[in-house]
Amino acid sequence: MKPVKMTGLLLLLCLLLTQAGCAARPQMQTSVLVVFAMDTSMTLTIYEKDAEGLLSDCEQLIIQMNRLLNAHAQRSETYALSQSNGEPVVLSAAFAEVLAQALYASELTGGAFDLTIYPLVSLWGFPSDEYRVPTAAELAAALPLVDYTQLQFNEAECTAVLPPGMRVDLGGIAKGYTGDLLYDTLQAAGVAALLDLGGGIVLVGQKPDKTPWRIAVRDPLNTSKHVGVLSLEEGFVQTSGAYERYFEGEDGVVYHHILDPKTGYPSEGDLASVTVIGRQGALCDALSTAFFVLGLEESVRLWRTLEGFELVLVTKNGDVYITEGIRDRFTPTDNYTDTNVSVLTRSVP
Ligand code: ADP
Ligand code: MG
Repeated sequence: MKPVKMTGLLLLLCLLLTQAGCAARPQMQTSVLVVFAMDTSMTLTIYEKDAEGLLSDCEQLIIQMNRLLNAHAQRSETYALSQSNGEPVVLSAAFAEVLAQALYASELTGGAFDLTIYPLVSLWGFPSDEYRVPTAAELAAALPLVDYTQLQFNEAECTAVLPPGMRVDLGGIAKGYTGDLLYDTLQAAGVAALLDLGGGIVLVGQKPDKTPWRIAVRDPLNTSKHVGVLSLEEGFVQTSGAYERYFEGEDGVVYHHILDPKTGYPSEGDLASVTVIGRQGALCDALSTAFFVLGLEESVRLWRTLEGFELVLVTKNGDVYITEGIRDRFTPTDNYTDTNVSVLTRSVP
């Protein structure tokens, strides 16, 4: 046995392989699938070639979650709960899990995110795309039906009771929660992936070239431009903004799809967009909606009580606020180097 020589041979072989790798520097191979679901177009990119099987698993998962959570599809569990007329409903474990997270988000945000918002959303015609401005009387009648504290939910037994007339809407958390499931699937498969779920981005693993993921933050006041770029490790990036879905009323006023559960009207806070970065997709999704409703001051106050989330807030004046954890990860784009970017600290200054 000549162990030394063998090691030498092995080393040489490794060296040759490495050199060959360098000479034919591989392009980043990707497999891509576009899925239309949850009222939006989703682009799934896996950084491997021939990942069609995995992409198809992801697509199935999205279709399955859409079937479960869609508020107006008659065979969804969301719909069944909304139609239960005060009778106890037995929930599937999968549905109970989403409901638990939506209820948690409602509690955490003091109802700025409210999982029982559907009667209002429906009055404005968002589910049917038949947009209209409700009358004050209609809104006054619907407001008492929006109150997450009235949902009786037994998580251990997977049962729920929803008072008659109340309706559940998981649209503000469905994509984020689905993102969590997709993340788990892809992480278990050991691949790197970038999923654009329409408003929400899921980053899995590390890109083959080992550089950070780069995610642009759109300018909500000029949506063909971007205020800056985030350099991130894996996780979730969720943006809510008035520009995502809106209509112009006969009165010439523009009405958007994020409603203030307190007033019944589209929220009128001082934020134009909210981007939440974190490790829990469902919560990032619900929080982005809630922060948008709450406005700058309340959002910062709530953020200071939370762990594990970073924010990019753009005000209606065009000012940008970023939280201290992403201070070195946010770079304003060329046109925005003069923009007022303030860093929000955890401790109150
Ligand atoms: P998008 O769905 O456009 O990405 P969001 O994640 O912010 O935007 O969710 C908006 C959806 O959430 C609306 O279409 C509606 O179904 C629901 N929604 C609107 N306002 C609220 C609210 N205050 N609390 C909970 N859900 C809401
Ligand atoms: Mg959201």
